[in-house]
Amino acid sequence: MGTTRKIGILGGTFDPIHVGHLVTAEAVRIEYDLEKVLFIPAANPPHKQGQSVTPATHRYIMTVMATYSNPHFYVSSIEMERPGPSYTIDTVRELVREHGASAEFYFITGADAVADLPNWNDVDDLLDLCHFVATTRPGCVSTIDDVIRQLGPKSAKRIHRIDTPELEISSTDIRERVKQGRSIKYIVPESVESYIGKEGLYRA
Ligand code: ATP
Ligand code: MG
Repeated sequence: MGTTRKIGILGGTFDPIHVGHLVTAEAVRIEYDLEKVLFIPAANPPHKQGQSVTPATHRYIMTVMATYSNPHFYVSSIEMERPGPSYTIDTVRELVREHGASAEFYFITGADAVADLPNWNDVDDLLDLCHFVATTRPGCVSTIDDVIRQLGPKSAKRIHRIDTPELEISSTDIRERVKQGRSIKYIVPESVESYIGKEGLYRA
């Protein structure tokens, strides 16, 4: 017997992590009664090839600082340790191996990310291994019905939607603000704000 451990996964570039990520993860954790949420910074995001992404160590440190005070939030370096571009299927397979059959995984994705799901590697296997929780995000129209139509009946049981507080925050906007010398107060945790300043990240 034994109880099922429900574990959330939030993958992202986290360049930098912001309040939108944190509020969303906490809302999903509570709604789905998750034991923990793993924040997984991407090493070398396959869909962001060619764009300049801040070194993974900085992004990892900011993610640790931002999540530290929540006893249910953890950060995994699983993708940073894997050489080459990382795909979600590899990450989830590794987590399943690590946690065993008693764990049930909930992959948290914003409305923009879930729309792209049909293009992900081995999406059919991925749907066997984890649930997807599609959250709402301002400016991103929900295309979940389209996604389910494309992926077939199995996906209808595996892709869930949840209404999360809509925060119009993105890492892109934060990087732009820093570059222009505008404030990022209260849209990132104070520790992250200090770190960005101290390390001189995102300056022109
Ligand atoms: P960038 O602007 O660099 O793409 P981002 O703000 O979109 O950064 P990511 O690291 O790309 O952040 O996002 C990781 C995950 O968090 C994605 O699934 C994304 O949809 C989700 N997410 C990001 N910002 C928000 C937000 N404000 N509300 C809800 N979900 C969000
Ligand atoms: Mg994004």
